Amino acid sequence: MGTTAVPPESLSYAEARERVLAAARPLPPELIPVAECRGRALRRRVIAAHALPPFRNSSMDGYAVRAADVQGAGAAAPLTLPVVEVLAAGRVASRALAAGEAMRIMTGAMMPEGADAVVPVEDAERADAGGAEAVRLTRAARPGQNVREAGLDLAPGAVALEEGRDLSAYDLALLASLGEAKVVVGPRLRAAVISAGDELVEPDQPLVPGAIRDSSRPMLSALLQECGVRVVAARRLPDDPARLAGDITKLLEVADVVLTVGGVSAGDFDPVKLAIARVGDVALWRVAMKPGRPQAFGTPGGRLFFGLPGNPASVACTFEALVRPALRRLEGFTGLDRPRLAVRAGERIGSRAGRTDFVRVTLAWREDAWWANPAGDQDSGHLTPQSRAHALLVVPAETEALEAGERAEALLLRWPEDARP
Ligand code: AMP
Ligand code: MG
Repeated sequence: MGTTAVPPESLSYAEARERVLAAARPLPPELIPVAECRGRALRRRVIAAHALPPFRNSSMDGYAVRAADVQGAGAAAPLTLPVVEVLAAGRVASRALAAGEAMRIMTGAMMPEGADAVVPVEDAERADAGGAEAVRLTRAARPGQNVREAGLDLAPGAVALEEGRDLSAYDLALLASLGEAKVVVGPRLRAAVISAGDELVEPDQPLVPGAIRDSSRPMLSALLQECGVRVVAARRLPDDPARLAGDITKLLEVADVVLTVGGVSAGDFDPVKLAIARVGDVALWRVAMKPGRPQAFGTPGGRLFFGLPGNPASVACTFEALVRPALRRLEGFTGLDRPRLAVRAGERIGSRAGRTDFVRVTLAWREDAWWANPAGDQDSGHLTPQSRAHALLVVPAETEALEAGERAEALLLRWPEDARP
């Protein structure tokens, strides 16, 4: 059994991303009830099976009339028409509207044949015509007024939603309206998280000298959950390569993705580095990105394995830069990253040519632009800048430094509390 680690391969961020995405092929979709689809990837383009709205209907509570009949109506010259039928939503008129007649109609009810306008209740008064219902109209109506034509929202055969879309609550309404009771969506992935380190203790444990609390495991679990992933295991293990190899191997049987935190750098006690030699099909990488340089990645048994560096900022940035896109690819989303925002550097931000930097920044709106300023010291061991950051500013590999005022792209983590321009 080989426990000696192979020397890591040096890759640019673009190369690492390309390799990760090439390995992350979309998993088979599933068919689930529309009400459970929010946040899933739509895996088939949806074509409208019928028009929306499906029939010509009233957009107001009022009186269905023939516009030509009420031409002359006005406040000074009210016009009285007999009300021959009452149409609640869901009721269909028993006959067509004839000249000189009105039908009382509610929002969403089908327009009777012969009617071409709805006079809203605000422009009408109930009247009496010898014991029968009538209406006094105090305003004229244009043809088509307050009438929703069938197909005005969506024509039959039109594309309602494109494949690969991240389904929103609003999309579910559209799907339900079109009779898509079950929807073909990406699967819910199962992920397992292992944090490795003899120095790590639980949040409820006392800090003995040299110990730190395991912060990356809850962070990673939450990031996964945010991606719609089910975390089937989240455990902390000591720096024991044999134990780690055993757990990783077992978890690869029950999870689509296994992630470890720590133990992949160049230190003397980097057990994940040693463990993956036993797991097989995992490579050690030195990715030209900051933070997050040492990593491991592979597809043991057709699953995805990510060996993330230990520092919290490295975990966060590697997740955003490589893990999230891979998970979203597996699920079948077209958009793989957080929303990309055009920003301007609030100050000079140094980098190095050939290295991609992910800078934790806060955002503020000034002079018609979002200005990004580092959210504190960018030490990869620091937690507060990550917590305060609104975005990750990307300094591309080919850029040596961003000058103050220069335009760049940022991955939006969350909007500032007061995001009004
Ligand atoms: P390593 O890659 O294992 O050398 O870890 C790099 C740094 O990250 C060390 O200072 C570790 O103590 C720290 N670290 C590793 N894992 C975690 C974790 N789960 N939570 C917080 N810090 C960690
Ligand atoms: Mg360690």
